[in-house]
Order: sequence, then structure tokens, then C-alpha cells
Amino acid sequence: MPKLKPNRALRGGKSPVHNSDHRSTLWERRTLMSKQGGLCALCGKAMASADITLDHIQPVSKGGLDTITNLQLAHRECNERKGAA
Ligand SMILES: [Zn+2]
Repeated sequence: MPKLKPNRALRGGKSPVHNSDHRSTLWERRTLMSKQGGLCALCGKAMASADITLDHIQPVSKGGLDTITNLQLAHRECNERKGAA
């Protein structure tokens, strides 16, 4: 019996560099879209798909996880404003 290879290794594990271009899956986006009803998590207004970014609720730099439970969808603008605050 061959040992099962842990898929996690392929995902890079811990990366010291925060990649703002989170490898979002369509599934994550769809799930969050329906959870949020298509509204921005930060300002509450409707989002056009071109404007949507994935926002970490708790920043990765502060120990937040890179999982869907720590992600929300927000306008690019709102996300940047939040990051700058
Ligand atoms: Zn917004």
C-alpha cells in the first residue's frame, strides 16, 4: 500500500509572504456571495463582480487563518480603505 501523500505540501504550507492575491476558489466566492447576499461585508452595498475582493476578517499578519471562515467579500475600495486604517 502506498502511503497517502499529504496534499497540503502542494499548497505551499506556511508562506512568509502574504499573498494578497489569495488563491480563492470559485467555491469560496460562491459560498461567500450567497452568505452575504451579494453585498459588501464592509459597506453593505451591492458588488459588481469586477470590484469584488476577498478580505481577511482577521488579518493573516495578526494570526488570522487563510480559510473561508476568516474570509469575506468586499469591494476592492473598501478593502483597501480598511487596510489603510
Ligand atoms: Zn463596500
